[in-house]
Amino acid sequence: MSHDPNCIFCKIIEGKIPSRKVYEDDDIFAFHDINPWAPVHFLMIPKKHITSLAHVDATNAELLGRMMVLAPKLALQEGCRPYPEGGFRIVSNTGAEGGQEVHHMHWHVMGGPRPWLRG
Ligand code: 5GP
Ligand code: ZN
Repeated sequence: MSHDPNCIFCKIIEGKIPSRKVYEDDDIFAFHDINPWAPVHFLMIPKKHITSLAHVDATNAELLGRMMVLAPKLALQEGCRPYPEGGFRIVSNTGAEGGQEVHHMHWHVMGGPRPWLRG
């Protein structure tokens, strides 16, 4: 599995930095955001170090598809109410103007009763 030794999310996947795990399989890891904006706020990441959503190509299509199919299931598991009253928001900040701070591709999955701290 390719990883970047200086990447905090690679360290979280390896267990070198502790996190509150939501889900794990061979390719995907999900964990609670340390600084949540919403009652439910977790991050989904590929175990393989992909820098951002701007770096994906056709070889990543199956992985991205699996992540997208998984996201609604994890949102419900973590306490989001069902659609349409409930629901969730997925955000993938990409690059400086996209507001990306951690350069390992991640999807914020947020939900729960409003108001939220941000967003
Ligand atoms: P970005 O701005 O890159 O989209 O978001 C990075 C997110 O990662 C932020 O919401 C931040 O709270 C979260 N984060 C940064 N460092 C850690 C950490 O060490 N553990 C956890 N669980 N989340 C982190
Ligand atoms: Zn990484």
